[in-house]
Amino acid sequence: MRALRRFTVRAQLPTQLAPLQTLATNLRWTWHAPTRDLFASLDPEAWERCGQDPVRLLGEIPSSRLAELATDAETVVTVRELADELGDYLAGPRWYQDSREDTPDLPGAVAYFSMEFGVSEVLPNYSGGLGVLAGDHLKAASDLGVPLIAVGLLYRSGYFRQSLSLDGWQLEHYPALDPQGLPLQLLTGADDEPVHVQVAMPDDRTLTARVWQAQVGRVPLLLLDTDIEDNEADLRGITDRLYGGDQDHRISQEILIGVGGVRAVRAYCAATGHPSPEVFHTNEGHAGFLGLERIRELVAGVPGGASAESNGSTPLDFDQALAAVRAGTVFTTHTPVPAGIDRFGLDLVRRYLTDRLLPGLPTDRLLALGAEENPETFNMAHMGLRLAQRANGVSRLHGAVSRGMFGGMWDGFDQDEVPIGSVTNGVHGHTWEAREITALLGDPTPGGRHHAGSAPSEVSDGELWALRNTLRSRLVDEVRRRVRAAWLERGASTPELGWTDHVFDPGVLTVGFARRVPTYKRLTLMLRDPDRLRSLLLDPHRPVQLIVAGKSHPADDGGKALIQQIVRFADDPEVRDRIVFLPDYDMSMARYLYWGCDVWLNNPLRPLEACGTSGMKSALNGGLNLSIRDGWWDELYDGSNGWAIPTADGVEDPTRRDDLEANALYELLATQVTPAFYDRTDGVPTRWVELVRHTLETLRPQVQATRMVGEYVHDWYLPAARAAAEAVADDYAAARDVAGYRARLNAAWNKLQVTGVDASGLPDTPVVGSPMTVRATVDLAGLDPADVTVEAVVGRVDDTDELAEPTTVAMEHAGACDGGGDRYEVVVPLPHAGLTGYTVRVLPQHPHLASSAELAKVVLAG
Ligand SMILES: *Cc1c(COP(=O)(O)O)cnc(C)c1O
Repeated sequence: MRALRRFTVRAQLPTQLAPLQTLATNLRWTWHAPTRDLFASLDPEAWERCGQDPVRLLGEIPSSRLAELATDAETVVTVRELADELGDYLAGPRWYQDSREDTPDLPGAVAYFSMEFGVSEVLPNYSGGLGVLAGDHLKAASDLGVPLIAVGLLYRSGYFRQSLSLDGWQLEHYPALDPQGLPLQLLTGADDEPVHVQVAMPDDRTLTARVWQAQVGRVPLLLLDTDIEDNEADLRGITDRLYGGDQDHRISQEILIGVGGVRAVRAYCAATGHPSPEVFHTNEGHAGFLGLERIRELVAGVPGGASAESNGSTPLDFDQALAAVRAGTVFTTHTPVPAGIDRFGLDLVRRYLTDRLLPGLPTDRLLALGAEENPETFNMAHMGLRLAQRANGVSRLHGAVSRGMFGGMWDGFDQDEVPIGSVTNGVHGHTWEAREITALLGDPTPGGRHHAGSAPSEVSDGELWALRNTLRSRLVDEVRRRVRAAWLERGASTPELGWTDHVFDPGVLTVGFARRVPTYKRLTLMLRDPDRLRSLLLDPHRPVQLIVAGKSHPADDGGKALIQQIVRFADDPEVRDRIVFLPDYDMSMARYLYWGCDVWLNNPLRPLEACGTSGMKSALNGGLNLSIRDGWWDELYDGSNGWAIPTADGVEDPTRRDDLEANALYELLATQVTPAFYDRTDGVPTRWVELVRHTLETLRPQVQATRMVGEYVHDWYLPAARAAAEAVADDYAAARDVAGYRARLNAAWNKLQVTGVDASGLPDTPVVGSPMTVRATVDLAGLDPADVTVEAVVGRVDDTDELAEPTTVAMEHAGACDGGGDRYEVVVPLPHAGLTGYTVRVLPQHPHLASSAELAKVVLAG
């Protein structure tokens, strides 16, 4: 008989073991090895059977076994010690609390919104890198003591589980998760009743969501869930899966996370007394509607709780509220692939952004926030940029690419001036590093409680090499287990599968390639010349073995065809011992790959990989990157921590470009990588070990998520918190002031012009450093001289008169002209030799702007 429904009943724990409940539900165990060891020791067999999931484990251990453990002194003591340790971790001051002593205006709370969170495979709420990065962000914030409140959605079926058909086609499964069986608790209000958050939907309907709370160390993660009886059937399904469904489904999810998410944060703070966030971090455009809800709050006169001063304030108008909201918002963009950016038709947006959802906010103003080149579409990234005073990309190169990609919003500015910065992503060391590495080298977490280890330079070649061999062997065992399981799923029978016991060899150079399968990642580049690949795999002296994994978006048949090509190649009995495609790439598989692969391969189409983080996780374990210089590798490759695959930048024909880059990849493998791995002295590949050591020495500290979160705290959250505090002070005086200023600018800007420019004072034959006096007259069109900055711009020019390497110098206001207008002048020493040009421009100036480019307004002379 099949059950109609299922649910999970949690175990009754004997008193002596009661703290196991907290140890199991706080996800800190995912990065705390001693806690995992404790769970494993309770019932090693059940631990494996439950997929190393403590909540499931506690439900599976028979009560007789629990009773027995309750009388085991050692177990009881360990449980108590670990519970105490967790208590200290959660309560004690950490890096952030220490920093706040010196810098008291660090925010009291930051809300972090993301469509996906990859914290652990036991909470499958992610599709790939974006989610895993968000998970790592929370864990590092927890380790550092950063007071984050995270907000996302709880998907009933997560993303999807991948398997293969016999002919290598991706199949998708959507097993339903039971929230009761997950490490989650319902958020309840002061009345002990579950908190319900509501958002208005079209056609006079209302969507209700309950709020689950996961605890990621110190960081609460609020997950909204619409699968409740209060909702009509179709609305119940809004949180059914991640990135599934049509545009209606998608915008409903985004309204829920953005608008509903802010409401959930308010409810959480009210229920727990947690300080209200001063800063909101929008991780990618999906959650951008959060800014609209905060504007609505302010327009309605509901104190957002941003500060005590806000109580009893006079309501703000739209522009004043917008100024206040922008001040405290940080937006991170994650993709340079235009197709990867969320867009909705304007009609659809108009149908959802109703006066019921956001009372008092004018629709035309809302629609204008998402305006882009195409007048029919609403662009979530553009809205993200307009709602945030501070924005960043996720590697240095991606920052530059984003400045180009969004440069159209800053017409008249040079690309370098577009106010989008960068924070290079990082990865959470304790999550992704093999415990043997941590045991040997110590804890690299700044501000964590250090436990000393050896510097990589102090570890002998033999010891490092032995460690790499251990990690590779563990991976090979896992590969065999998974290959066998995959073939059983594809329909093979046990007697046919003897060969799977022998796939892979623990002594062979192991290369990993695992990631989602969008086109730009070029899953099949390695198959460009199949014979060449075959000969690398089967080389009698220097063989290579290759693990490939990755999911294709269910709607992307092109991606599935790429997977099928790899699977068909790998199915060939001639090579199947040396190349495998492992289905269902997720965090539980990824871990083994990052630990065990000698080489991590990445060959995206440059510059479309915003950062890439899998290679960082490999580097934590002494894996060497073999990668196109894209994303993080463009800035952290140093010539001795791996290899850079040369790119054929500028070759327009994509086929030819792939040929060239594939060829470079084969060459590197044959002439650099394999010799370094196989040239041995007394059984040890000394050159290889030197590369591993250098990687651990230099990359391991740089790729840490704690480094990333530290940068966010100091360079983004802190200025945003300061700006937000200023915006709300004295009944939002600064927000009102900025709004008034923007209105004055808008009224005058089209009439403002530079009416005259000249330069004088140069000798007949100017040399570098000769002083040039630049004078200009400007018609300020009614603005005050204090409202603008007038700049002289001097730089190299070519035939097109385009200024290169410009130097900009603010000009001094030299009084009013007799016939109207204002005079400006400045002395500029000539910055360089050669053909030189200059011009004059006018920019907005206001004490509450983060940069003079912020408002995307500039008037150029001429
Ligand atoms: C790290 C990680 C990713 C992201 O890898 P990229 O290099 O950014 O493509 C995707 N999936 C899982 C399971 C990961 O752990």
